Amino acid sequence: MVIKGIDYKKCTACLKCYKLCPMDVLSYEEKTVKIKYAEDCQSCYLCVYECQSDALKVEPNRPIDIYDVYNRKLV
Ligand code: SF4
Ligand code: SF4
Repeated sequence: MVIKGIDYKKCTACLKCYKLCPMDVLSYEEKTVKIKYAEDCQSCYLCVYECQSDALKVEPNRPIDIYDVYNRKLV
């Protein structure tokens, strides 16, 4: 898991992170942004960069190294 959490004391539910995440990691339920598919997070940091409340915590390690994807043999 690379997205670690949302600080709800800081989050203003502006929905920027929810709208821009290219991997659809986040959901919006009951007026709250939630981490729904953490395993799909690629640590691109778009959500962290755009969050003006500094409410998101993301770790730098990707679950799949992009170079592994290109070097992987197809069976
Ligand atoms: S961008 Fe930040 S403030 Fe806006 S919904 Fe996401 S976590 Fe909350
Ligand atoms: S770091 Fe990138 S992939 Fe992960 S939740 Fe944020 S925008 Fe989505």
